[in-house]
Amino acid sequence: MGVFMEKADIKSWDQKELGEFLVSLGEKPFRAKQLYPWLHIKHAVSFEDMTDISKKLKEKLINSCHLTVLRQVDMQQSKLDGTRKYLFALPDGNLAESVLMRYSHGNSVCVSSQVGCRMGCKFCASALGGLVRGLTPAELLEQVYRIQEDSGERVSHVVVMGMGEPLDNYGNVLKFIRLLSDGNGLNISQRNITVSTCGIVPKMRKLADEKLQVTLALSLHAPTQEKREALLPIAKKYGIQEAVEACRYYFQQTGRRVTFEYSLVEGANDSREDAGKLGALLQGMNCHVNLIPVNPVAERDYRPPNRRRVLDFKNELEKYGINVTIRREMGRDIDGACGQLRKRFSERQGEG
Ligand code: SAH
Repeated sequence: MGVFMEKADIKSWDQKELGEFLVSLGEKPFRAKQLYPWLHIKHAVSFEDMTDISKKLKEKLINSCHLTVLRQVDMQQSKLDGTRKYLFALPDGNLAESVLMRYSHGNSVCVSSQVGCRMGCKFCASALGGLVRGLTPAELLEQVYRIQEDSGERVSHVVVMGMGEPLDNYGNVLKFIRLLSDGNGLNISQRNITVSTCGIVPKMRKLADEKLQVTLALSLHAPTQEKREALLPIAKKYGIQEAVEACRYYFQQTGRRVTFEYSLVEGANDSREDAGKLGALLQGMNCHVNLIPVNPVAERDYRPPNRRRVLDFKNELEKYGINVTIRREMGRDIDGACGQLRKRFSERQGEG
C-alpha cells in the first residue's frame, strides 16, 4: 500500500501489552513471560542475544520492532565521591545525560526526561537550546538499565531531575514510572522514585490523581510571586500560591510528603528575609525543603551564596518548624550543572 509503518517500540510496553503484540504476530501470549525479562531485567542489547527465544520469533521481532538501547558516549567519574556522569546517544543521535550517585542508603540514578527543555529557567543550562523532544518510556528506562549494567551495581532510587521538564512529557514519564516499579521488571519501589517539576500545576494535580507513591518535588526557588517569576518563567502562567496549593493536594491524594527544591542564588533569593517569607509560606505543611547552592553556568551570571549565608538561611527556615536539608554536592569535580555535559560535548563535535 506504500504506507510507512513505524516499527513498534517494544521496550515501552508492559508485559500485558507485550503479550497482546505477540498474539498479533501469531504467537502464544505466554511468550511475553519469556521475552519481558530479556528486555527489562537482563537488558539484552540485541534480539540475537535472547538465547531461549526461537529463531522464528526473533526474525519476526527484528522485522517489526525497535529494540531501544542507549549507547554510552562519555562517562566521567568523580574522584571525590564516586559519582558518575553519563552521556548517552539516543537511537536518533540526540544526547541525554544521566548521573549515578552512590549513597549509603543505595545507588540513585538521575535521569533526563527530555532532550533540551522549553521552560527557560534562568539559571539552568538545559534551557539554553530550547526543547528538541521528549524521551520515550524505553529511553527513560534505558538510562537506568545501562547504568546498572555499566556499574554492575543495583540501582535502588531514581530521580527524574536531569534535563527536561518531566510533566511536559507526562504520558511517557508516567509509563516509565509504571514500568520501573513493575514487579516483572526492575521493581524499584515507587517510594524510591522522585519526580521534580518547575510547577506545571494542572499536571501536578493530574499526577496526584494517579495516586502513585512517588515523591513529588516542586522547584520553588523563591518565596514570593515576584521573585519566582524572575527566575522561572513558568511562574507567570501558574502562580506560586497555585503551585503550593497543588502540592497540598498531592499530599492529600497520596499521603506523600512533598519536597521543595530551593536553589540559592546570591543576591536573588538568599536573604534572611527571603527565608522568613518562605517559612511563612510553607508553615504547617508536611514537607521537606532541599537547599541547593546554585551551580554556576558559564552563560549565566548567577553565583551561590557563601557557606555562612546558606546556614543562616537554613536556621531561619527551621524556626518555622520546617524540615530542611542542604543538598550534598555530589561530583563537584566533574562537569557541574545539569545539561552542561551534553552542551560541552555538542560544542566539541561542532568544532570538528
Ligand atoms: N524540570 C524539572 C527537573 C529538572 S532540574 C524541575 O524544574 O524541577 C532539577 C533541579 O535542578 C530543579 O530544581 C532545577 O531548578 C535545579 N537546577 C537547574 N539548574 C541548576 C543550577 N545551575 N544550579 C542549581 N540548581 C539548578
